[in-house]
Parts: sequence; structure tokens; C-alpha cells
Amino acid sequence: MRTTVGIIGAGPAGLLLARLLHNAGIDSVVLESRDRSYVEHRQRAGILEQGTVDVLRAAGAGERMDREGLRHDGIELRFARQRHRVDFPGLTGGRSVTVYAQTEVCKDLIALQLKEGGPLLFEAEALAVEDAESERPRVRFRHEGREDVLECDHVVGCDGFWGVARTAFPESLARVFERTYPYAWLGVLADVAPSHDELVYARHDRGFALLSMRSPSVSRLYLQVPADTDAEDWTDEAVWDELERRFETADDWRLERGPITQKSVTPMRSYVHEPMRHGRLFLAGDAAHIVPPTGAKGLNLAVGDVVTFARALVHERETGSPELLDAYSATCLRRVWQAERFSYDMTSMLHPGPGDSPFDARLQLARLGRIASSRAAETDLAEAYTGFPWE
Ligand SMILES: Cc1cc2nc3c(=O)[nH]c(=O)nc-3n(C[C@H](O)[C@H](O)[C@H](O)COP(=O)(O)OP(=O)(O)OC[C@H]3O[C@@H](n4cnc5c(N)ncnc54)[C@H](O)[C@@H]3O)c2cc1C
Repeated sequence: MRTTVGIIGAGPAGLLLARLLHNAGIDSVVLESRDRSYVEHRQRAGILEQGTVDVLRAAGAGERMDREGLRHDGIELRFARQRHRVDFPGLTGGRSVTVYAQTEVCKDLIALQLKEGGPLLFEAEALAVEDAESERPRVRFRHEGREDVLECDHVVGCDGFWGVARTAFPESLARVFERTYPYAWLGVLADVAPSHDELVYARHDRGFALLSMRSPSVSRLYLQVPADTDAEDWTDEAVWDELERRFETADDWRLERGPITQKSVTPMRSYVHEPMRHGRLFLAGDAAHIVPPTGAKGLNLAVGDVVTFARALVHERETGSPELLDAYSATCLRRVWQAERFSYDMTSMLHPGPGDSPFDARLQLARLGRIASSRAAETDLAEAYTGFPWE
């Protein structure tokens, strides 16, 4: 099998890249180890930056998002029983975010790919990337019980944190920057209308809580829990009781309860693999970097990477110059590190750690108080949350 761009992974990064290349007249093959249903139902991110929305729309994948996505013009910070709204458009010259689940982004892109795009093979597991430094890199993969080889001009590893592409980088080249956290998020999906019309980020001495939503009738809620928590240890009632305590306010705001349909624990990690390119192998999305979800950046970074790659490849085709492909890693990493910084800042400001002292708690409250009282500090948060500019 032969193609111009071999794409490993049909998460948001791989699927959007295939779409962008198709629109530019460049052929690709996508290899995905899981089946279609698994990819379409894996609960993950839900906040799209303005730039991500613009890219999906321009790629012809925005029709349902425009119909069903919820535009959000702010978030609420909740601490010391007080509420503070951050007004995105007012602070950023008009920018906002859109609530539209990653599952739906993937469904839309898969439908387009199967209808108009190149091959998208489910249950096709990449086993190794070979000859990345050569003119003809190859992906060895297994599909329908047989081993096969995909020969490519370029390979893009969009295969997430546990993927295989990164292992093709020589140890002498790769540098890893990593931080783990002593807590995780217990996430639940509940069939109940969101109790607030914007996301609520709550810092409480008992731990962080987040109120989010998937649609006008489905709430997505999270609780900070110890890193080794088993979701099944939490009864539905215990989840609601704890959410209620952490979202408590001095006014008459109330949390509505409803049937919980899904419960899972998400670990928290910061991770960057440098460089993001080795020869003709490029890494994109979670294959190269992970952020804790507090800043809602994971999916948006993945989109930034594949847009950068697609533009660079088109540039090379149009001008003959590989300069943008050569700059791929450095270009992506500038944005990645800003997102790492923001995600770390949000996480450390809102999560009381197990070893924290009363001094640490006061510092968190002081940081939140600063945002609530300074337009400059608030603007910094709003700019980062709605998205860093693309180069
Ligand atoms: C449980 C969880 C919750 C999250 N919640 C949030 C959130 O609330 N907000 C937020 O912004 N971000 C969140 N994220 C992060 C966000 O979902 C990711 O950043 C995003 O999915 C990255 O997209 P991707 O395409 O790079 O990787 P993925 O979505 O991980 O896609 C990688 C794909 O590659 C496939 N694959 C792996 N190995 C192989 C192989 N060898 N061969 C072929 N295919 C392979 C996988 O099956 C997968 O489909 C969450 C992540 C997780 C894990």
C-alpha cells in the first residue's frame, strides 16, 4: 500500500489532518487501531477554542457544530463561596469558546472521511514506523489478521499518548519534560440540564470541582480525587453530595441532580516530547504532549499541530521550499509550551494538593482574588482560555 501521508490514529488530530489534506488535494491513509464505535463514543474534551471552530468550519466540518454547539462567552470562578464571572469577548476583543463534545467532532470528521476522503482503516494497528530518516518512511501495521506495510512520503503520528510513533525517535534525539500530579478527576455524565449556563471552576478546601455540559440536557461534572481512585468506589449519591459541597455559594444557587450515566477517572499529567519531528516522521496532538484538562487545551493543541503540518506541506508543494516543514517542531512547541504553562497555572491555582500547607491555600485564594480584582490578570486568563494565536 502506498500514499503521500500516512496518518496513525483517528482521534481529532488524525481525522482533521486527513480532512485538511483531502481539501488540499493531497492523498492520505489513516490507520486506527480501535473500531469506529469506540472512537465515536470515547468521552473526552468538550471545549473548542475560537481558532478550532474556525478551522473546522473552513474544513467543511462545521455544519452540525454550528447547529448544536453552544457558544460560551465566559466562565465562572468560584472560591470562598463567592462567584466571579470572566467575560471573554469583553476582555479579548470579541473571542469566545464553543461547547461541542470531542465525540461529536470525531463523528462529523469520520462521516466526511468515509464519504469523500481517502482510506480510513479501523482495527488497523500500527506496529512500527520504519526508515523515518529516509525518503520513503514506512508504517508496518496489522489489519484483518494480516501484517501489511504502508509506504509514505511523510508519516504523521497522531496516535495519542500510548501510541507507537514516538518510539521511532532515537533515544539520543528525544527529550521528555514531564510532571505528574497527586490527584485525578472523577468525571460523570448526567442526564440533567446544566445548573449554570457557563462552565463553573470551583476551588474548595475539600478539592476542585468543575461544572461543564455536553448539551442543554446533559451535564458533565468533575471532582478532584486522589490519583489512585477507582470510579466504582463512588456511589452516585456520594458524587452529588460532594459536588454540592464544593460548588456551595453564599447566594441561593442550587445544583440540580439527575441520573448519572457514566463515571470515569482521568489522570492528570503534563508531558512534552521534543522535538516533534524526526526525518519524515512528525508527531501531532497527544502523541507529543499532554496537558492536565483544567485549561481545556488538549484537543485544541492537537488541532493547532495538524493545521501547522498541513500548511507546511502545502507550502512545500507550492513553492518547493521545505522551510515550514523544517520549522514544524519549533513552531508547534512555542504554542504547546504556552498551553502547558496555562494548564499548569490553572491546575495549581484550583487544586489543593495533599501536602499543601495553610500558606499554600492562602496563595491559591490570593491568585483567584487577583483575577477577580484586576482587569490585566483577568485578561491574561481570558486570552489563554480562548486560545493562543496561531503563527
Ligand atoms: C479520559 C480523558 C479525558 C479528557 N478530557 C479532556 C477535557 O475535558 N478537555 C480537554 O481539552 N482535553 C481532554 N482530554 C484530552 C483530549 O481528549 C486529547 O488532547 C485529544 O483527544 C487529543 O487528540 P489526538 O487525536 O492527539 O489523540 P487521541 O484522541 O488520543 O487519538 C489517538 C488515536 O490513535 C489511536 N491509536 C493509538 N495507538 C495506535 C496504533 N498503534 N495504531 C493505530 N492507531 C492507534 C487511538 O485509538 C486513538 O483513536 C482528555 C483525555 C483523556 C484521555
